[in-house]
Amino acid sequence: MDTVIVLFTRDLRVRDHPALSAACDRGGRVVPLFVLDPEVPAGHRTGFLLDCLADLRESLRALRGDLFLRRGDVVTETMRLAGEVGADAIYASSDVSELGRRRERRLAGERVDLRLFPGLTVVPPGALRPSGGGDHYRVFTPYWRAWAGGARRAVLPAPSRVPAPPGLVAGDLPAHASRPVLKGGETAARARLDVWLRQGLNGYAEGRDDLAGDRTSRLSPYLRFGCVSPLELADLAGSEPEFVRQLCWRDFFHQVTLAFPRINRDDYRSRPRRWRDAPDAVSAWKAGTTGVPIVDAGMRQLLAEGWMHNRARMIVADYLVNHLGVDWRVGAAHFFDLLLDGDVANNSGNWQWVAGTGNSTRPGRVLNPVRQARRFDPDAAYIRRYVPELAGRPAAEAREPWRLSRRVSGYPAPLDPVDRRR
Ligand SMILES: Cc1cc2nc3c(=O)[nH]c(=O)nc-3n(C[C@H](O)[C@H](O)[C@H](O)COP(=O)(O)OP(=O)(O)OC[C@H]3O[C@@H](n4cnc5c(N)ncnc54)[C@H](O)[C@@H]3O)c2cc1C
Repeated sequence: MDTVIVLFTRDLRVRDHPALSAACDRGGRVVPLFVLDPEVPAGHRTGFLLDCLADLRESLRALRGDLFLRRGDVVTETMRLAGEVGADAIYASSDVSELGRRRERRLAGERVDLRLFPGLTVVPPGALRPSGGGDHYRVFTPYWRAWAGGARRAVLPAPSRVPAPPGLVAGDLPAHASRPVLKGGETAARARLDVWLRQGLNGYAEGRDDLAGDRTSRLSPYLRFGCVSPLELADLAGSEPEFVRQLCWRDFFHQVTLAFPRINRDDYRSRPRRWRDAPDAVSAWKAGTTGVPIVDAGMRQLLAEGWMHNRARMIVADYLVNHLGVDWRVGAAHFFDLLLDGDVANNSGNWQWVAGTGNSTRPGRVLNPVRQARRFDPDAAYIRRYVPELAGRPAAEAREPWRLSRRVSGYPAPLDPVDRRR
């Protein structure tokens, strides 16, 4: 009987999943597979990933299928299972990262029909090309124009049935000791999405930079693991162009990564800069003890939640790169380790943007953290939430404790003199 393996990677959902739907449409057997590769540890994302897999398995079982789990090298295990079930084809969602593309190249070299489908972005990376030539857009605004006006594929419902072969060993989900700070999976993503569409989306444009208000969707970990389809999200959120624009940023960095797969290692645009080796400053930055409250608040939010507000990400990244003079790769690696939404394209794309080596059209721009705090955390509520040493202080003191005649006990003096002219 015709049998297809659907290799799941970072597309952990049943709704709007083109590869899964196409496999089910063939009318034969469908073997949904996820391979846990010990060589690609998910770090702090492990608990979230395991939640996603448990939820996906439940959804597939409800459709009379299953999620088959194997451990080892993805290609080896996929081919082993293909031999076991006599698979005619492997279906997967096309990826842009170096790791993902190596996997695809290796599978393409095997004696099996590999078919790649869209699904990780709203518009497939590489689908839009600048009219003046080139294989990708280097600047966001023209990409946004082409992206917003372009045709889209239709959003797909979940398949009505996923007919798995009988008698195949499903494989156990490993236990994970520490519970993730956020529940992973498509079910949790839909719950968050429903609340967001009803209560958050409307005020997004005004509230997205309000650090203390926490008025962004917090859907990024779910998008990272594909628990929600970015295309469906763009459709559902169509009434708020500012929000849709952020989804376009995500697509933008994915198409940059497709064209420049070394984005997490090499400068996209080389810019002569001498980085400083400053291990103590880097340790303080990571621990949230730089003595610059808005920076410390952001870094402590990252440690506590595995997530950080976008405005804070910009401030802390700018501080590391432009104030401490430390290589963006050091910051990107730390973010990548800790963020639940840590993703090569978005993480490295944004770090390079801040460092002036990426797609920014104003590469020399430097942010003043105190001004940023005054503007985006006017009551210092964000600072006081994450830096308890400053909790009882009036806003102006919490923002600039070095102005006080006496030092705040337990809170460090700033690492670097803050340049107040900017
Ligand atoms: C230095 C730095 C590193 C970053 N690293 C990552 C990362 O590893 N993974 C990640 O998903 N985002 C990253 N971002 C982008 C952004 O900060 C997060 O996507 C956003 O804060 C997630 O919160 P949210 O879901 O509430 O966003 P919302 O404001 O609700 O936006 C909705 C979605 O749009 C996308 N989006 C929003 N802003 C951006 C952006 N600037 N670039 C690309 N996509 C965006 C995200 O998928 C997000 O979930 C980084 C930004 C900076 C400045």
